[in-house]
Amino acid sequence: MYAKRSSCEAAESAVVARLSTVFAGRRGPMGPVDRAECYASGPVTVVIHTLQICPRVTHRYTAMTSPSIPTHPSIVTDRLSFPADESRHPWLARLLEAYRITDAGVAEGIRREAQQGRKLACAKGCAACCRSHTTIPVYPLELMGMTWYAVERLPAPLRARVQDNLQNNADLAACPFLVDEACAIHPLRPQACRHFNVFGQACAEGEDAYYTRRQDVLTPLKRYKDQATDVVLPFYGIQHKAQRRAAIAAGSLHALATVMKDCNWPSVAARMAEHDQQRTPVK
Ligand code: SF4
Ligand code: SF4
Repeated sequence: MYAKRSSCEAAESAVVARLSTVFAGRRGPMGPVDRAECYASGPVTVVIHTLQICPRVTHRYTAMTSPSIPTHPSIVTDRLSFPADESRHPWLARLLEAYRITDAGVAEGIRREAQQGRKLACAKGCAACCRSHTTIPVYPLELMGMTWYAVERLPAPLRARVQDNLQNNADLAACPFLVDEACAIHPLRPQACRHFNVFGQACAEGEDAYYTRRQDVLTPLKRYKDQATDVVLPFYGIQHKAQRRAAIAAGSLHALATVMKDCNWPSVAARMAEHDQQRTPVK
């Protein structure tokens, strides 16, 4: 059951207006782009809401996506691949390419730190950061990827656990995708989670190392970060190389981020239920 057409259109208009304001070369409606304001803005909540109530918004975003993805062949690493899903969701290949570059940058950053004798503290089963890191930014395209993965790819019984978390997100102290100390959407986790790596000691429970010991947190390598941004910009309507360069230099994309904990996660739980209902054969 979708919301009324009028509310759907209002939500869609809000997203489109936000995107065009940000990328018209002017300041976004929230004012100058900085970390605090990036977290204060809420377009992703609108995007996720629109994804729930009106699938045609996804099609509108797809239409904004250039068929060609800027390639950076010098960065060699495997890319996640979901061929059938990528043909149904053309934006997905772009997101996966951006994550390929991000992951390559993280691997290179860790390798350089290791050469300086620094040891990575992050390991499987270590997940204090998914409870304590409360200011994780997420972007509209990333949110679409997380939603797609949760709705279409999560298998049982993990699926029910995530759905329950999403539904009750307001009462949780942790990220709703954290299940048994592991990320349920690990292949599609957002860039901020991919970047967040800590050296030396593992984080103490409740510690956000970004604030307590910034020097132990990996600083993403600019070259990779910029190239990953370059790949996603056409999704937001920035097609030409010169425009993409200017948007990267200005950090325009940050104006589209919001904090993960503020997203409308129950709407994704509802989308999962709807998806399951459609797949259940009528008796
Ligand atoms: S960021 Fe901290 S809590 Fe998260 S995996 Fe690394 S060491 Fe563990
Ligand atoms: S998306 Fe995954 S990695 Fe990121 S905070 Fe949530 S559980 Fe942790």
